[in-house]
Amino acid sequence: MEYSLRILGSGSAKPSINRFQTSQVLQMRERQFLIDCGEGTQTRLRQYNSRTARLNHIFISHLHGDHCLGLVGLISTFGMLGRTNDLVIHSHPDLERVIGEQIKFFAADSLFKVIFEPFNPETSEIIFEDKAVTVRTLPLKHTVPTCGFLFEEKQLPRHINKEMADAFNVPIAFYKELKDGIDFITPDGEVVENRRLTTEPTARKRVAYMSDTAYSEKNLQWIEGVDLLYHESTYLSDIDIIKLKTRKHSSAAQAAELAKKAGVKKLILGHYSSTYTSSKPFQDEARTIFLESYAANDGDTFEF
Ligand SMILES: [Zn+2]
Repeated sequence: MEYSLRILGSGSAKPSINRFQTSQVLQMRERQFLIDCGEGTQTRLRQYNSRTARLNHIFISHLHGDHCLGLVGLISTFGMLGRTNDLVIHSHPDLERVIGEQIKFFAADSLFKVIFEPFNPETSEIIFEDKAVTVRTLPLKHTVPTCGFLFEEKQLPRHINKEMADAFNVPIAFYKELKDGIDFITPDGEVVENRRLTTEPTARKRVAYMSDTAYSEKNLQWIEGVDLLYHESTYLSDIDIIKLKTRKHSSAAQAAELAKKAGVKKLILGHYSSTYTSSKPFQDEARTIFLESYAANDGDTFEF
């Protein structure tokens, strides 16, 4: 699966056998990212046969236990498994102070380094970039500083129309420029427009992760049209509105409202309160507003 989101935990603070705390593995071609790391993340990774050789970056949305208490166990196990690749943890600056000592103690013999890359949770900024993907923080509205994340592929190269390129005798040495959209000039000085020699690039993929948060439209500009939006829905709309506001969480209907406003392709729900026994009512509630809504359960994989 080239592009997928695997749900390791779809529950919120109180875990159960069927619903672990929040954690997800995002696969974008050969890149793999872990988003949040609730307790039991390593158990789920093993249970779902998730390979972690390419897992080099972990993104932690906020410092509530159900989103980060799995880190020390996971890192300690990586040490026992003989991991050698460095591991970068992107999070609120306080995380290193809180778990750095534990990692040094419990993973003292590891062959890899754990590198903390703090971000400022108050502003939206790019916190990761390589040649194919960028990750941007999306500040959310929660009881402690919290950020969601936007994972975006960079613009992919244009496709070469081999027949046309041959017809104009374009040398192979010029193919890179062609893919970048540059016009070709023949030895006689004739300009051949790039669009005659190439076709549109494959659409780049974009995924947004938003947990935990009260309803907020402040990130609409960033999430517009994403292929996949994961949005927390801790409660259903039957929840007391005061509770919803003071706990700074969202209902399934609110998540769906945002998905509809942002024109996303697919909405994934999760982070359900343990007072609910089934995810079905969350999906039903969201679909009254936004049809492409899916309530996640542990172990689900969503391709995009
Ligand atoms: Zn929280």
